[in-house]
Amino acid sequence: MSSPYTLINDAPLDRHNSFRVPARATLLAEVTAAEALPGLLALPAVRGKPLLVLGDGSNVLFTRDFDGLVIIVAACGIEILEDDGASARIRASAGENWNGLVRWSLTQGLCGLENLALIPGRVGAAPIQNIGAYGVEVAETLLSVEAFDRTTGKSVCLSREQCGFRYRDSVFKQQPERWIITAIALRLQRNAPLKLDYAGVREELAAMSVTQPTATNVADAVCRLRLRKLPDPAVIGNAGSFFKNPVVANEETQKLQAAHPGLPVFNAPDGKKLSAAWLIESCGWKGFREGDAGVSEKHALVLVNHGKASGAQLWSLAARIRDSVQGQFGVQLEPEPRIL
Ligand SMILES: Cc1cc2nc3c(=O)[nH]c(=O)nc-3n(C[C@H](O)[C@H](O)[C@H](O)COP(=O)(O)OP(=O)(O)OC[C@H]3O[C@@H](n4cnc5c(N)ncnc54)[C@H](O)[C@@H]3O)c2cc1C
Repeated sequence: MSSPYTLINDAPLDRHNSFRVPARATLLAEVTAAEALPGLLALPAVRGKPLLVLGDGSNVLFTRDFDGLVIIVAACGIEILEDDGASARIRASAGENWNGLVRWSLTQGLCGLENLALIPGRVGAAPIQNIGAYGVEVAETLLSVEAFDRTTGKSVCLSREQCGFRYRDSVFKQQPERWIITAIALRLQRNAPLKLDYAGVREELAAMSVTQPTATNVADAVCRLRLRKLPDPAVIGNAGSFFKNPVVANEETQKLQAAHPGLPVFNAPDGKKLSAAWLIESCGWKGFREGDAGVSEKHALVLVNHGKASGAQLWSLAARIRDSVQGQFGVQLEPEPRIL
């Protein structure tokens, strides 16, 4: 029987991060069966080492080598646990490709994930920052998360409520050393209303000559929009949006809007969400380049590696962008990717 994990010493991480910056890990383990985690973590070579769980590395920035163990959960499988005709409960293992899961759900006639099409990465990372796009977050369909809890050494199943989902946030993001996500369960409907009201979706469907959209049409429209608006990490290194949209108090928003009438503002549960892209573009950063570190010409929120930029150079550029937005607007930007 083949081993449920591989272990490599002094492993390069260049292929494991979508910024394509150079970095190395003391140890890299790829785990194909979740049950193997306790045995792996008990190995003398591994015990006590700092741990980083990685998917496809599309939301991380390595600013230096990682002196510890990197685990990639590569366990795969998608199954329907229960189907009552109107909706189905499905389970997907952490190693599955996210967009593969979205497309699979559509072939089953299930909807709810179509607006999240083409988000890079693996299923296991989806709950970490409660991935969201085009007016939908994964928390809306997610039922539970299976994870290995390193504080107890036990596997647990957390309900949606226990996951503490918020805008680009969860308990997993707050306690990154604690949890290794191994699978998720979702409830997907067969006839749920489609969400078409977010930026450009209706217009894209019209451009596709679709008048009565299906969930698959919506996924296709979202893919077309994303391919047009975002730089492709296969062509130019990036991690998507580098900063979260800042949430500020209503009073502060009113002052900002009075001073900057063009500022886009959206409702958020605890205040107003501002467009980080607009703030950054207003400070003149769109298309900026210094060496191989730069800001995308397509989207001001996306930092790019034109070739040989290091993670430290990208992080230093990010700090300058953050400081200039703070200086011009008094608004604090927070990075969205995990900085290592
Ligand atoms: C071009 C582009 C567009 C993007 N668009 C969006 C978007 O529209 N919306 C959005 O929300 N995100 C977007 N992202 C960010 C990214 O795709 C998501 O955050 C995705 O979920 C990351 O998946 P990953 O497998 O690459 O995770 P990684 O980057 O490998 O990891 C991300 C974080 O999750 C943790 N992690 C990963 N897997 C596990 C696991 N099994 N258990 C515990 N922790 C884990 C890591 O430690 C890290 O903290 C985009 C990125 C790119 C490059």
